[in-house]
Amino acid sequence: MKDLVVFLKENGISFEENVDGKRLCSFRVGGCVKIVAKPQSSLQVKALLDYLDASGMKNKVLGRGSDTVISDEGFDGALVLLTELKGIKVDGDMLSAGAGESLASVASFACSQCLAGLEFAHGIPGSVGGAVYMNAGAYGGEISDVIVSCECYDRRSKSIVVLDKFDLGLSYRHSVLQDKGELVVLSVLFKLSNGEKTEIRERMDEYKSKRLASQPLEYPSAGSAFKRPQGHFAAKLIDDAGLKGYTVGGAQVSEKHAGFIINRGGATADDIKDLVSYIQMTVKEKFDVSLEPEIEFLE
Ligand SMILES: Cc1cc2nc3c(=O)[nH]c(=O)nc-3n(C[C@H](O)[C@H](O)[C@H](O)COP(=O)(O)OP(=O)(O)OC[C@H]3O[C@@H](n4cnc5c(N)ncnc54)[C@H](O)[C@@H]3O)c2cc1C
Repeated sequence: MKDLVVFLKENGISFEENVDGKRLCSFRVGGCVKIVAKPQSSLQVKALLDYLDASGMKNKVLGRGSDTVISDEGFDGALVLLTELKGIKVDGDMLSAGAGESLASVASFACSQCLAGLEFAHGIPGSVGGAVYMNAGAYGGEISDVIVSCECYDRRSKSIVVLDKFDLGLSYRHSVLQDKGELVVLSVLFKLSNGEKTEIRERMDEYKSKRLASQPLEYPSAGSAFKRPQGHFAAKLIDDAGLKGYTVGGAQVSEKHAGFIINRGGATADDIKDLVSYIQMTVKEKFDVSLEPEIEFLE
């Protein structure tokens, strides 16, 4: 770890040591993360990931942590936070954004430029890179509808590559990035369409109102805990299984939206994990449906 600190200093990459995991994920759980490095450019990302791969040190790339549960034991390695990969540019109806930009900023910027297509993303609290990784979506829209290509760092070939939409293998909450851990999103190119600013803003406001009405946004969470199983809705299955309000420690199945697990206060990562397992077991027993978690556990 000392060598990494020297490397980070020599390369001008900002970092923090012994960071409370609760600061890094939207669930507000987790123990101590040894090192959090925040590269600010593609070159810094490349240099850092090359260093980590060569050293064999445990590491993980993270965006805004809104789909991630950090273990109570913390993370005995380096978290590479990509939130400093900033920048949004517009050229006609094409918009490019750094992987670390929040979806909210990108959607708002698109709106300010009278560009429609990203309204669905405005209320998703993730980064652009995390959204491609998950093919994030809401209210009938998803990243695959608007993405043209993305620039990635390929840790295996040690080169920056451009993947087009089809190379990304985007499907419901899935991308090829989940199968190929070596690809790290640096920036993304979207194709939007010209629209009326007021109408775009109205659609974003409408989705925001829907979220406020239906989701427990007053509690820390990672959004929907499970993917939608074929032919079903996870929230309905969980509700029908009588699990609304079911609690393990500080983690609870939201009374407002059974698809959400919330941190009622003082939840641990283990509480969330145990609750996920209990929900999976109960839904399987009652309806013979297997629920796959959408949230990721970082060990
Ligand atoms: C209140 C709430 C509501 C939500 N609503 C929605 C919703 O409507 N629709 C939806 O789809 N999701 C929703 N989510 C979940 C989450 O916001 C999205 O999945 C989002 O895309 C995750 O982005 P992130 O940057 O936070 O990812 P993180 O949690 O930081 O990371 C998730 C995964 O992505 C990988 N990753 C992150 N950045 C990169 C990168 N640059 N390159 C390669 N891999 C990367 C990480 O390694 C990790 O495996 C919600 C979450 C919350 C808390």
